Amino acid sequence: MVDSRIQRRNFSITSYMVVAIILIHMVVLPFLYQTITHGYKDSSYEQFISHATEVSGFLADVLSSKSLEHDREDIINILETSLLGGNIQFVEVVDKQNKIISPRDGILDSPGKFREDNGVNQNDDDIYYLSIPVYFTEKNDKVFSLRVGIDESAIISDYLSIRKKVAYVLGAYLLAIVLFFAAILRVIHKPLYQLRDRSREIANGNIDIPLGLTSRFSEIQYLADDLDKMRLSLLNLAERMQYKATHDELTNLPNRYLFNDRLEQSIAMSGRNKNKFSILLLDLNRFKEINDTLGHGVGDEVLIIIAQRMLEGLRESDTVARIGGDEFSFILRGVGQILAEKMARKIIDIIEPKFDVGNHTLKIGASIGISVFPDDGEDADLLMRRADVAMYNAKHNNLKLASYYPEMDSDHYENLMMANDLKNSIVKGHFEPLFQPKIDMLTNQPCGCELLLRWQHPNLGLIYPDKFIPIAERENLIGDLTCWVISNYLHKFSELVKINKDFHISINVSPVDLLDNTLLTSMRESVQATQFPEGNLYIEVTENAIMKNPLRSAEILGSFHDAGIMVSIDDFGTGYSSLAYLQKFPISELKIDKSFVTDLSKDSANFAIVNATITMAHDLDILVVAEGVEDESVLTLLKSMGCDRVQGFLYARAMEFDAMVEWLNSYNEADAE
Ligand code: C2E
Ligand code: CA
Ligand code: CA
Repeated sequence: MVDSRIQRRNFSITSYMVVAIILIHMVVLPFLYQTITHGYKDSSYEQFISHATEVSGFLADVLSSKSLEHDREDIINILETSLLGGNIQFVEVVDKQNKIISPRDGILDSPGKFREDNGVNQNDDDIYYLSIPVYFTEKNDKVFSLRVGIDESAIISDYLSIRKKVAYVLGAYLLAIVLFFAAILRVIHKPLYQLRDRSREIANGNIDIPLGLTSRFSEIQYLADDLDKMRLSLLNLAERMQYKATHDELTNLPNRYLFNDRLEQSIAMSGRNKNKFSILLLDLNRFKEINDTLGHGVGDEVLIIIAQRMLEGLRESDTVARIGGDEFSFILRGVGQILAEKMARKIIDIIEPKFDVGNHTLKIGASIGISVFPDDGEDADLLMRRADVAMYNAKHNNLKLASYYPEMDSDHYENLMMANDLKNSIVKGHFEPLFQPKIDMLTNQPCGCELLLRWQHPNLGLIYPDKFIPIAERENLIGDLTCWVISNYLHKFSELVKINKDFHISINVSPVDLLDNTLLTSMRESVQATQFPEGNLYIEVTENAIMKNPLRSAEILGSFHDAGIMVSIDDFGTGYSSLAYLQKFPISELKIDKSFVTDLSKDSANFAIVNATITMAHDLDILVVAEGVEDESVLTLLKSMGCDRVQGFLYARAMEFDAMVEWLNSYNEADAE
């Protein structure tokens, strides 16, 4: 595409002005020249002619006192004398027949020299010829003409020299005017070009240097002032944008971008000076929960308060940046591992005290991972990765802080890889649900099954839920996973329920799932779409999950219950809640954790616990399931205690769907025999 600016011809102001000046002067100067020279010529010629007429008239007057007959000598004398002045070049008196009296030869024939002029400078003879009538004293009517020729060369050359002078003056004027304008334009042009150059520089982003342009011309000065104002507001805007680009909007702390920059600087500086420095990676605990339950407004307030507290605990030379939602990073200059741990502890102590946001009193903890330059790495990437590994390690082991050490890597690497692949695997359905039947003690018949998930990782192979569920929770993917299970497998169960209307399916639900309504909505939709009968779908929730946020759990579990979904308390006995407390929740089933069941014997401490639990649950109208039943003796004991349902390797391990259908059929056949 051709730029239209290039196609259009542009001329500078100078060229326009020069052309205009020349054009104006081309009209004005000849006119001026003509007016002056002609004016001079007219008046000087007129003067000359009237002088010539006067002179001739005087001569005619003198002659008229003479008689042609008697004073002939006198007349010739007079004429001769008139020639002596030099001014009169020619004189003669003629009658009608051109008989001439001339000073030299008396009466002669006219030599024909006389050619009367109408004005000055005619007939190219440098003489102005005129004739006037002259009367002598003779009393007759004879008229004579006095012919006079007066030298006009002086007046003509006067005129010519005046003409030349005028031409010179006007030429000089033209030159002066052109020079003057050229000078003026130069004076105007210089700042204009400077303005143009500075505008271009500004356009190229060079806005730091003041314009520094002064001009005697007010218009240019205004323009320069305005341009400088524009530059200043651009500078201001650029600074604001620069700040925005390098700072977190909420907390005003440096953001990840600026942090990386400072980190590179620290590496360069400490590398030169052979100094140490430490990186602290801080992750808030349970921040997502605050966000989800109390809303983002409260979450934001919390972050602002925490950021403020962190700044209070830092030295001037240190940096703290917000590098993620609830992740903060510190650079502590000149600090090695021991001091870094001390400072990390101090930071956590500053963060932890309770604070008020709105009408909530909150307390928030954090985990910090530490890596040290140059011991743990000499480049930014490695240092950050290792601080991250240390942070995960701290979180995993319920520690407030951990410094990096090399053995941390291998565990962490696998976890990181899993975290990376999890989302993709959910999308691609790399999960396999297995099913473990539950047996009703009263009828000795399968009454339901529990869905237990496995992950078929493309590189790592089969992964058990104990490993990937915590990662899915941490990566905020557990909701997607649970929804995937429900939308893909609920319709399969509706087939089973068609065969046995009492057969139920239990799905494990993470504490994270209980925080929002997504799971409930997706379950309701799937139940409706598959026309799954009410009461045949269970969710298993651990008592710890409920106790994390009892109020919210009561609300959510109530909604599940209202939607016809049964609630089962999983891993019962491993938490610290009492059954009396749990009665506040709409619970249908309670699963005694396998750690109490597997080694159950009459004289074990677990016997009393299991027995009491069954009795109390029955008092509250709650069914009891014992999981982890591996042998007959345990089964017999459970039966004697009145346990309602059992689940365990004694009957079946978790298996694929088709295998379970087969198992159910063969179980019925065995029963029929
Ligand atoms: P859980 O809910 O307590 O599930 C029972 C676990 O005990 C299962 O392990 C099961 O295979 C195992 N088990 C069953 N019978 C016996 C037995 O007789 N003896 C012994 N020693 N173990 C037995 P699994 O499949 O490895 O699952 C582990 C945990 O992972 C589950 O504990 C559950 O909390 C969680 N999980 C599994 N699938 C899912 C899921 O889809 N979503 C969620 N949120 N969690 C799941
Ligand atoms: Ca379970
Ligand atoms: Ca369990």
